[in-house]
Amino acid sequence: MTSAAMATSAGSTYAGAALPGRRTAARSTRASRAVPVCAAAEKKEDFDARAFRRELSKTDQYSRKFGKDEESAKAMEEAGIGMVSRGGLVAKMRESGFSYVQGDVTLKLADAYGFCWGVERAVQMAYEARKQYPTENLWITNEIIHNPTVNKKLADMGVKFIEETKDGKDFSGVQNGEVVILPAFGASVHEMKLLADKGVSIVDTTCPWVSKVWNAVDSHKRKQFSSIIHGKWAHEETVATASFAGTYLVVKDMKEAQYVCDYILNGGDREEFLAKFKNAYSAGFDPDTDLEGVGIANQTTMLKGETDQIGKLLERTMMEKHGVANLADHYMVMDTICDATQERQDAMYKLVEAKPDIMLVVGGFNSSNTQHLQEISEDNSIPSFWVDTPARLSTDNTILHRLAHGELVETKDWLPEGPVVIGVTSGASTPDKVVEEVIDVIFATKENLSKSAVAA
Ligand code: SF4
Repeated sequence: MTSAAMATSAGSTYAGAALPGRRTAARSTRASRAVPVCAAAEKKEDFDARAFRRELSKTDQYSRKFGKDEESAKAMEEAGIGMVSRGGLVAKMRESGFSYVQGDVTLKLADAYGFCWGVERAVQMAYEARKQYPTENLWITNEIIHNPTVNKKLADMGVKFIEETKDGKDFSGVQNGEVVILPAFGASVHEMKLLADKGVSIVDTTCPWVSKVWNAVDSHKRKQFSSIIHGKWAHEETVATASFAGTYLVVKDMKEAQYVCDYILNGGDREEFLAKFKNAYSAGFDPDTDLEGVGIANQTTMLKGETDQIGKLLERTMMEKHGVANLADHYMVMDTICDATQERQDAMYKLVEAKPDIMLVVGGFNSSNTQHLQEISEDNSIPSFWVDTPARLSTDNTILHRLAHGELVETKDWLPEGPVVIGVTSGASTPDKVVEEVIDVIFATKENLSKSAVAA
């Protein structure tokens, strides 16, 4: 059995009342506490994921925050992955009304963009973990955030990434007494438990907005409602959220939500339903009985407007099916939309209204929130170029970019000759420095184009 598989069934294998191999952290003043026994967790609903995490967080082997460390912030800035690059072009744009002109190029920066609070906090905690544990092996269960530049910097600091195999994550290399960082978008409770059992120190950088969603699905479970999670079933954040839910179903968009609501109102082909949502529901999920009471939750990086629409659709459906007076017995909603996601999306809607000639979207290709920024631009018919690093652009005016639905496309002559207005935004896990490096290539390309025009 691989460690990953063990993690999946952790609830049924854990039998210890105390954490095995717990290290005594010199910096902690808290008394050691035992994680509650959950050996009876043969069925998922018997395992109280929230209580487990709460108790784990009281132990010496768990850290959720370090003191504010100016040195780490400085180290991040020097490594070019600070939240803001001081004195750089992005800072200049911010200071001059989110606009900048150089030669033929006018840049319009979205008024909310780039590193969010949760991401900055996670990266800073990873830096601080390196300082707190200078000699221990330091692991991370996944990319800390979805940005290749940031993850490379952590790898350069000696942070090892848990390998993803065809059977899931391979934790076999992680030894008792080592340190494991959980990323900003969280980790499943099964992974937490496996790590606790191994006696490692856990540095949990999970964004509090993500834990807020975990609390929401826990509330659904306590009310014996199913959680309808607006997200992508394979996304790490949704995997983690689902692990805190009882019965759940993941819907990725309005179309899928509409299908579910039609089923609630009119019934349908159960087998077709289960085939359609393969991999996207909890074990034993039955659409005929598990949609009587539902609560809405979201992957924090989904389109906010779409989450709202799905929530309203579910609410209307439950009112129609059960009557307005009985709504509270069949539907619940808690506000779990992250402000940072909302602000970046709102700023993007504003930017597309200004109708730039082209749009530049910078962010990791596996970053869901960046994908949604690209989607907003494409939906508004603005030629939009999503890149993750400056290496995607060449000064011969070629760009390798990604479309919202995932296709990687090479476009030649993407920058026009003459004046051009470029809208600029970046995802919540993108350092300003990366945006600046991309823009540098744009300026160099335009310069080449001007020289060629003069030579001709
Ligand atoms: S986008 Fe929101 S939920 Fe995600 S890390 Fe940033 S602040 Fe947290």
